[in-house]
Amino acid sequence: MKRELDSVNNNLVVLGVTHMIDSNVCDICGSDKHPYAHFCKRCKKLVDRVDIRKKADKDARAKALKEAWEGEAFSCYYTGVKLVEDNPKDPRYLTFDHRTPRIESDVVVTAALINDMKTDMTEDEFKATVIQLNSRFAGGSFDGSVFDLKYWKR
Ligand SMILES: [Zn+2]
Repeated sequence: MKRELDSVNNNLVVLGVTHMIDSNVCDICGSDKHPYAHFCKRCKKLVDRVDIRKKADKDARAKALKEAWEGEAFSCYYTGVKLVEDNPKDPRYLTFDHRTPRIESDVVVTAALINDMKTDMTEDEFKATVIQLNSRFAGGSFDGSVFDLKYWKR
């Protein structure tokens, strides 16, 4: 983990997320935590979730979770829906999406359904594809050039 101390408050800064040393609140959600832990049990479980494909960037995950925290639950970056943390079969299950496929340092929190739809697309490619689908569903045309994908891998 890349760590540095911020000169103003002597807090630990890990990739843009400030950790209050000896604080009793979780760096992500603000709940009670052990003073020497960074996160509460709920958030630690999410940050430490095993990814079978690749070694996760825990700092990036913590940052994504913090950005998605809405006071009592995490919300999806793309849709804003309230996410489910404990049922992998729910379409709202909390997942980490690589905004650029396979780049672990830049992730957001999103619903499993949206992550499956996005697959190997970048955020911009995903948006362009959805916009073309919307055009098609509204009776218009579909610009097939959106399928010229940079990171598509099968
Ligand atoms: Zn927490």
